[in-house]
Amino acid sequence: LRDLLKDPSLLATQAYVAGEWVDAADGATFEVTNPARGDVIARVPNLTRADAARAIAAAAVAQKEWAARTGKERAAIMRKWFDLMMANQDDLGIILCAEMGKPLAEAKGEIAYGASFIEWFGEEAKRVYGETIPGHQRDKRITVIKQPIGVVASITPWNFPNAMITRKCAPALAVGCGFVARPAAETPLSALALAVLAERAGLPKGIFSVITSARASDIGKEFCENPIVRKLTFTGSTEVGRILLRQAAEQVMKCSMELGGNAPFIVFDDADLDKAVEGAMISKFRNNGQTCVCANRIYVQAGVYDAFAEKLKAAVAKTSVGDGLKDSVQFGPLINMDALEKVEEHIADAKAKGAKVVLGGARHELGGSFFQPTVLTGVTDAMAVTSEETFGPVAPLFKFDTEEEVIAKANDTIFGLASYFYARDIGRITRVQEQLEYGMVGVNTGLISTEVAPFGGVKQSGLGREGSHHGMEDYLEMKYICLSV
Ligand code: ADP
Repeated sequence: LRDLLKDPSLLATQAYVAGEWVDAADGATFEVTNPARGDVIARVPNLTRADAARAIAAAAVAQKEWAARTGKERAAIMRKWFDLMMANQDDLGIILCAEMGKPLAEAKGEIAYGASFIEWFGEEAKRVYGETIPGHQRDKRITVIKQPIGVVASITPWNFPNAMITRKCAPALAVGCGFVARPAAETPLSALALAVLAERAGLPKGIFSVITSARASDIGKEFCENPIVRKLTFTGSTEVGRILLRQAAEQVMKCSMELGGNAPFIVFDDADLDKAVEGAMISKFRNNGQTCVCANRIYVQAGVYDAFAEKLKAAVAKTSVGDGLKDSVQFGPLINMDALEKVEEHIADAKAKGAKVVLGGARHELGGSFFQPTVLTGVTDAMAVTSEETFGPVAPLFKFDTEEEVIAKANDTIFGLASYFYARDIGRITRVQEQLEYGMVGVNTGLISTEVAPFGGVKQSGLGREGSHHGMEDYLEMKYICLSV
C-alpha cells in the first residue's frame, strides 16, 4: 500500500494521543485488512481505556486555549487542514479504498465530501452569534451567549472512514471544543491520515486525538463515564446507540446519535422513470448499499412496476464488480463475511416467501465478500427486508396501488432517517413530502448528503443534526445572562 502513495508518511500506523504518535503500552496491535484482497495492510495499536482517558485529559487542557482564540484564528487552521486534505486527495482516497473496499473514485469523492465539512464549519467558526432579548424589567438587560460544550468524544463506523469523523470534529473544533475520536477498528488508517494532516495544519497538540482500539465497548465506557467528557457523538447502529445512550444517562451527557435507517424509495406512476432509475442506482447502490441512507425498500406504483423493474435491471446489469483500486469498478466487496451473510439471509428469506430474483442473488465469482448486485421483484411486507436494513447491494421492489397506502407502509418502521420519492404532480409532491416521517426527504433525487444541509433522523434513527448551521448548535451550550443595571 505504501508504494501506491505519493506521500507514504500519510500511512500512519501509530495512534495519535494527546499530540503524540504512540504505541499501546503493552505493544498490542490489531490488524487492518483490505476487504477486496483479504491481505493485512497494517497493524495499529490496540489502545486501552487508560489511553482514552489520557487523550480526554489532554483535550481538556488544550481546549481552554483553543476556545480562547478568535473564530478567525481557528478558521485559518481549519482552512489549511482542508487545503491539505484536497492536496492529498489521491493518497487519502487510496488509503480509504484499501481499508474499506469502496471503489477509488468513490473513495476520493468521500475525501472531498469529508473535507467539505472542515471547510464549511471552519468558515462558520466566525459566526457563532448570540442574542439580545429585551429585558422583562426596566433595569434588566438579557443576553444569550454561545459557548463550546467542552470535550467531545466520538465513535464512528467503517462505511465512511473519513467523512463520519470530519462531520463531527469540524463543527466541534470550529466552535472551540476538544475532540477525541475512536474510529471503527476496520478503518483506523483514514482517521490517522486525517491526524497527520491536522498536525501539519497546525491544530494545537491534544485538541484532536485518534484512539485506535479493537476494544470498542471499553473505550465507549470511558467516553461515557469520564466526567471530563461533556458530549458523545456517535454514528452506527440503533442497537449500539441505545447502549451508549443508557451509559451516557449516568452523567446526563449530551448525545448526538446518527443511527440506522430503513429508507423507502417510492416511484409514483407520474414519475420520470429514467430519472427514477438513475436515482435508485445512486441511492440503493452507493458504497455497495452500505450507507445508512441507502434505499432499503423500493416501492413502485402498479402501473409502472414492470417497466421500472426492467429499466433498473438493465442499469444494474451494466455495472462492474471488483477490487476498488482497479479502474472502472462501480462495486467493491462488502466490508466482511458477516455483512455478506446478512445479504444472503435477506435474499433467501425473500425467495422462500415468494420473491423473484431477476438479477444477481448470489456470491460473486471473485470470491471473498464480493456479492452480485441484485434486483428482487414480488417483494412483500412479510419479508425481512421490510423491517431490517440489508446494508448490501440488494434492490427489493414492492408493488403498491395508492398514495395513502404507500405513505402508511413507508412510515411503518421504527426508523426515520432518509426517504426518497419520484413524482411530478405538484400536489402529490407537497402531500408526500409533508407526510413522510423522516428527517430527510429526497424528491426526484437519490443523493441528499451535503455539508450545507442538516443531516439526521427522527424516531429511532437518532438525535441531533450534522451539517449546516444546525450542526454547529449541537456543539454549543447557550448561556443566558441577566444583568441588572
Ligand atoms: P456497524 O454495523 O456500522 O459496525 P455498529 O453500531 O456495530 O455499526 O458500530 C459502530 C461503531 O460503534 C463501531 O466503531 C463499533 O466498533 C462501535 N461499537 C460497537 N459496539 C460498541 C459499544 N458497546 N460501545 C462503544 N462502541 C461500540
